[in-house]
Amino acid sequence: MESRWVLHLDMDAFFASVEQLTRPTLRGRPVLVGGLGGRGVVAGASYESRVFGARSAMPMHQARRMVGIAAVVLPPRGVVYGVASRRVFEVVRGVVPVVEQLSFDEAFGEPPQLAGASSGEVEEFCEQLRRRVRDVTGLVASVGAGSGKQIAKIASGLAKPDGIRVVGRAEERSLLDGLPVRRLWGIGPVAEEKLNRLGIETIGQLAALTDAEVANILGATIGPALHRLARGIDDRPVAERAEAKQISAESTFAVDLNSLEQLHDAIDPIAEHAHQRLLRDGRGARTVTVKLKKSDMSTLTRSATLPYATAEAGALVALARRLLLDPREIGPIRLLGVGFSGLSDVRQESLFPDLDLAAPESEAHHSVETAAEAMFAPVSEPEAAPWRVGDDVVHRELGHGWVQGAGHGVATVRFETRSSGPGQARTFPAGTEDLSRANPIDSLDWADYLGALRADDTSAPAGDDVADR
Ligand SMILES: [Mg+2]
Repeated sequence: MESRWVLHLDMDAFFASVEQLTRPTLRGRPVLVGGLGGRGVVAGASYESRVFGARSAMPMHQARRMVGIAAVVLPPRGVVYGVASRRVFEVVRGVVPVVEQLSFDEAFGEPPQLAGASSGEVEEFCEQLRRRVRDVTGLVASVGAGSGKQIAKIASGLAKPDGIRVVGRAEERSLLDGLPVRRLWGIGPVAEEKLNRLGIETIGQLAALTDAEVANILGATIGPALHRLARGIDDRPVAERAEAKQISAESTFAVDLNSLEQLHDAIDPIAEHAHQRLLRDGRGARTVTVKLKKSDMSTLTRSATLPYATAEAGALVALARRLLLDPREIGPIRLLGVGFSGLSDVRQESLFPDLDLAAPESEAHHSVETAAEAMFAPVSEPEAAPWRVGDDVVHRELGHGWVQGAGHGVATVRFETRSSGPGQARTFPAGTEDLSRANPIDSLDWADYLGALRADDTSAPAGDDVADR
């Protein structure tokens, strides 16, 4: 395995960067993408807003307060991010034959042409890959490289923003040893807390334990695998993902569980492990299934389905817990499993992690709206403001634009697309007939690319023409 080089490519601030790409006025400005409602959460933050401490998954009101008056807050446009993502990874696949895509904006690759290459050669390859992605799409990727997936992913984190980090064999051990255990693949908050309680804070400390100790702390199922990773042993192959129908995790107990309290304690790390897999898959789930194998080897499964797919851990784990049955009623439990299914391709719902919290707040007279629409509706006078901030619109003469401000009976539209450069703003009465709703994808102005996609969806990927700017 001495010669192996795995790359991890991760788009920089992907959602916010697509907003800045397609709405040139926003370039260089602190953009926050996410739920605009009272309990909205940040789904994406541009580097200009990260300077102030804003981060993904932070409550939007908090991020807004940190960034201050300059903050530009926009609802997510999943359809635009989906098209941009597709084009990015078509470019990557043009150079790297096997791409293991983890989500909208990250993927592993193991280019065969790099087998046995020097660090310098790997760096040169990564720079060319980044340049190609930037030339074709206008978007910036950071790339990490190392002897396996774990190191490559850590390296891309160190490379950000707009950089490359190649971790050579010699520095691998010292780099891993000093990192907090949480950075290890598959260690979630529950496992982290368990380890920290025992005084194990770093990957090096975890690596120094015996196999038996790790199995004892983290369970016989995932313990050994995590211990290997902590010791820098990572020979997992890079492979295109088959579309899994279900993502699950399960654990067999050394001693049968006899109470609901014991099951409640046991389910968290299992559900968390399944959730980590779901996140890596890049999709959301609608259905949660709990599998209970009894000591007589008979199996009970129970499932429940949410109204929408989500990748949010809280909602999924809570549902799994509710599905448990009391061993005092059904008998001792030997094995517990948690599965997620009803997986949706475009992880649109993950852009709205706050929906389940916000839904009960939607008001009765908005009942026709979807929960998402309710989330992003203006706080006041929804009837008087047909346009909402972030809407894509089109004007007969001025072309494609987006609503920069709405309320008080007027809407301010910025007319611009990716290729136009910063555009002019014009204000219209809210009820104007000069504006109509536009396809958000038109803001990319990738007519050549999208035309090819529409003409023949099954043809080879469109050529990597340099974007016309
Ligand atoms: Mg990213």
